[in-house]
Amino acid sequence: MSGNFAADLETVFAAHGSRPALRMADGESWTYSDLAEQTARLATVLVGAGVAPGERVLAQVNKTPEAVALYLATLQVGGVYVPLNSAYTTTEVAYFLADAQPRVFVRDAASPALKGERAGLAELTLGRGDGSLVQAMDAAQPCFEVAERKGDDLAALVYTSGTTGRSKGAMLTHDNIRSNAEALRQCWGWRDDDVLLHALPLFHVHGLFIALHCALLGGTPTIFLPRFDVRTVKRHLPESTVMMGVPTFYTRLLQDADFNRDHCRGMRLFISGSAPLTESTFDAWQARTGHCILERYGMSETIINTSNPLHGERVAGSVGFALPGVAVRVAGEGGEPLPPGEVGGVEVRGENVFKGYWRQPEKTAQEFRSDGYFVTGDLGVMDAEGRLSIVGRARDLVISGGYNVYPKEVEALIDELDAVDESAVIGVPHSDFGEGVVAVVVPSGDPVSTEQVTAFLKDRLARFKQPKRVINVEALPRNSMGKVQKNRLRKQFAALFGRVPI
Ligand code: AMP
Repeated sequence: MSGNFAADLETVFAAHGSRPALRMADGESWTYSDLAEQTARLATVLVGAGVAPGERVLAQVNKTPEAVALYLATLQVGGVYVPLNSAYTTTEVAYFLADAQPRVFVRDAASPALKGERAGLAELTLGRGDGSLVQAMDAAQPCFEVAERKGDDLAALVYTSGTTGRSKGAMLTHDNIRSNAEALRQCWGWRDDDVLLHALPLFHVHGLFIALHCALLGGTPTIFLPRFDVRTVKRHLPESTVMMGVPTFYTRLLQDADFNRDHCRGMRLFISGSAPLTESTFDAWQARTGHCILERYGMSETIINTSNPLHGERVAGSVGFALPGVAVRVAGEGGEPLPPGEVGGVEVRGENVFKGYWRQPEKTAQEFRSDGYFVTGDLGVMDAEGRLSIVGRARDLVISGGYNVYPKEVEALIDELDAVDESAVIGVPHSDFGEGVVAVVVPSGDPVSTEQVTAFLKDRLARFKQPKRVINVEALPRNSMGKVQKNRLRKQFAALFGRVPI
C-alpha cells in the first residue's frame, strides 16, 4: 500500500465520482470526478513546472475549488504543500520563500508579483486569466498516477502563527494527516449522509486538514464558502449536518437576533476549536439552538489531540479526551506526569505528532522529551477521568509576586459581569511584583472601572490574581483563526506601571 495520503483519497474519489464534492455559494458545484480530474490536470502542470517528490509548493491563494485541487495535486506528485495566510505582506512572503525554498510559488493574480528572479523558482497565478494556472490546467492532460511516498515523508509544511519570534515550519507527514483524519472520522461518527459547512480558511490545519479531510475521506459533500459571513452561513446551515468553526463563528451567529433553532434543523454536530470557547458562549448556544457545541483541541504541529465525546457529556471549558492513538499528559517542568487536578504543561505523543521544525533541529530537540512527548507550550489540567482543560499558553502565564496566575480563570470570572462582553488577562512589567495582572475588557455598554471588577472578584478570587488595572478597549486584537493576540496587548500596555528598571 502506498504511504501517500493522495492514494487513499483517489480510491474514495473513484468510488464516489458522481457525488457532489464541493458546492460553492454561487451555485457552481464540483463532483468527486471533477475534483479528481482537475487535480490530475494540475498534477501534470506541477510536474511540468519541475516539482519532484519532496519539493515544496508554496501557495498564497484565495479559497477556491482550484486551491483544493492545488493542495491535492501537490500531494499526488509527492510534493510538500506550504499554505500561507493570505494576509501576509510581500516582505513576509519573502521570508517564507527563503525558508521553505519552494520549487513553485502560487499566488492570486491580484497579488503583487515577486520582486527579482529566484533561481529555479516558478511563479504561477491561480485565477482564470491569461497565463494562469487554471488556464494551464484546462489545457493539460490529466495524470492520475500517484507518486510513491513513504508514510513518514513530508506532506505539508505548516508555518506556525509566529506570535513569538519568527514563524517556524511544522513538518507534517502523510502518516500524521492520514492517522488524524481517520481518528476524527471515527471520533465524530462521520456519516455517509453528512454535509459539511466549510467557512474556514484553507491556509490553516483547521480548514485544510481537519474539516476537509473528514468530508473528502467520506466521499461526502462540502458546502464550500469563501469566508465566514453570518448571512451566507445562515442561508446554508439548513442544508448542512456538521459545522466546524472557531469560537468567533459561534459568537457572531449568536449576535444575530434572527438566528434560531430553525436554521439548525438538519444539524447533528457543531464543533469548535483553534481558540478557547467560553462557557458563556457554550451555554448561550445551547439555549438558542438546543445543541451542545463539541469542543476539541489541536495545533499546527499535531493537528488534533483531544475532543469532547460525540456520545456522552460535553463539558463546557474542557477540550475532552485524548483521541484514539494519541497520548496526552499534563507534566511538570522535567516532563514528570502530574496527578489529576494539578496544572502543568500539556505534552502529546502519537502518530499525529509532527516530525519537527523545518531546518531547525535544535529547536525541535528542545521541544521533545527523551520519551518522545512533544511539549505543546499549552498549560492544562486533567481530571480523574482523563478530561483535559486548557488554562492558557505557557507564555501567557502571569507570575505576580512569585505566584502563578492562570489568565483563563480570571477571564472566566470577569466575563460573568453583565457589563463585560469579553476580556483578556495579561501580565505587564511591574517594579514590585515582577508582573502586574491587567485585565483588558470589551465593555458591553459604559466603560468598566477597576473598582467595579475588583469588587466583583473580592470574594471569588485570591487577591494576587485580581487585576491591578482594568483597561477598556473596543475590541480585542485577534488573528485570522480568532485567537486573541496577547503579545500585542502586552506590547501595547508594557509601560502601564511605569518603566521597570532592568
Ligand atoms: P495553531 O497552531 O495556530 O493551530 O494554534 C494552536 C494553539 O491554539 C494551541 O496550542 C492552543 O494554545 C490553542 N487552541 C487550539 N484549540 C484550542 C481550544 N479548544 N481551547 C483552547 N486553546 C486552543
